[in-house]
Amino acid sequence: SAALVFSVAGCAGGGAGSGDGGGGDEAPEDMSVGVAMPTQTYERWLKDGGNIESGLEDLGYGVELQYADDDIPTQSQQIDQMITQGVDALIVGAIDGSALSAQLDAAESADIPVISYDRLLTDNENVDFYVTFDNYQVGVNQANALLYGLGILDQDFEPAEDAPEGPLNVELFAGSLDDSNSHHFWDGAVDTLQPYIDDGTLQVPSGQTDIEQAATQRWEQETAQKRMENLLTTHYNSGEELDGVLAPADPLSRGIITALRSDGQGETIEDGLPIVTGQDAEIASVKLIADGVQHSTIFKDTRDLADQAVEAADTYLQGGEPEPNDTETYDNGAKVVPSYLLEVQMVLEDNYEEILVDSGYYTEEQVESGQ
Ligand code: BGC
Repeated sequence: SAALVFSVAGCAGGGAGSGDGGGGDEAPEDMSVGVAMPTQTYERWLKDGGNIESGLEDLGYGVELQYADDDIPTQSQQIDQMITQGVDALIVGAIDGSALSAQLDAAESADIPVISYDRLLTDNENVDFYVTFDNYQVGVNQANALLYGLGILDQDFEPAEDAPEGPLNVELFAGSLDDSNSHHFWDGAVDTLQPYIDDGTLQVPSGQTDIEQAATQRWEQETAQKRMENLLTTHYNSGEELDGVLAPADPLSRGIITALRSDGQGETIEDGLPIVTGQDAEIASVKLIADGVQHSTIFKDTRDLADQAVEAADTYLQGGEPEPNDTETYDNGAKVVPSYLLEVQMVLEDNYEEILVDSGYYTEEQVESGQ
């Protein structure tokens, strides 16, 4: 089994075996929170982990932050170990939302509240709270960005007066099927695109319009790049034009753009590169947007999400119940998990400065260097 580096810093005198999930009778300094994050390969999870850690530490809690390299057994072991070590609350960004049932049962037995972070923990009722974004809206925004980039919608996202008649050719990509978010992103996007497919404005020449066909296992960039290469070789080999690609996350967008560029589809949108969407406002993609290469991304302010997670954990540990703003959407198969949903924003070449630079998320220098 993988060697797990497990630090108990900040956990001294912690609730090892205290198992009371706080309850308001212990000081933050005597409690710790286990934070399980999926991977370090996506920029966003690094930010999430760091922000949660510093938010909890500011309140005085000890923190056990672990990344699992997108490996399910590693994540299960990390959480098992957190529970054994006696953390008082758990914040979990799952790799496979359905694979942690044993850990959720163990947390319940030890009276440890569990906060599902960004991705829904499924098929188990021992999930206390869910902090996330409006994931369906992410998909709607991605589709609207694509339609806008293709000239079908105008800048107010109304039908454009000089809209092309079509059919315009698009290809669709989805995220990892074991991530519940992938399905919400996909549903939001496909519900928005479907009327244009039905009336012939858009067509998908590969015919790959099921999420299973479009999925990208573990959200791997290389997998998306390979699939794009295959689509180009198989369906665009006799001069057919590709106009746009629905891509659900920035690393996948960049893999797809690499495939498109190597195929000679253009270097920038201006010289013919297809419209490619994204998500997460990763710095490398924001640079590509500023350079007119990637068309759009969706900004989800992970600082706010981390704040919500920290607040929920703190509330439990002080003996309270966090306040949801949604109690209907996120049915995890065993129960509807009370949720706190944050808003998302579409980022384009003409608004990235306002949304990302003026807000202090990135500096202009970062956007220029892409780092
Ligand atoms: C997150 C996205 C992220 C993707 C891949 C999803 O669950 O919501 O922000 O791009 O996972 O890490």
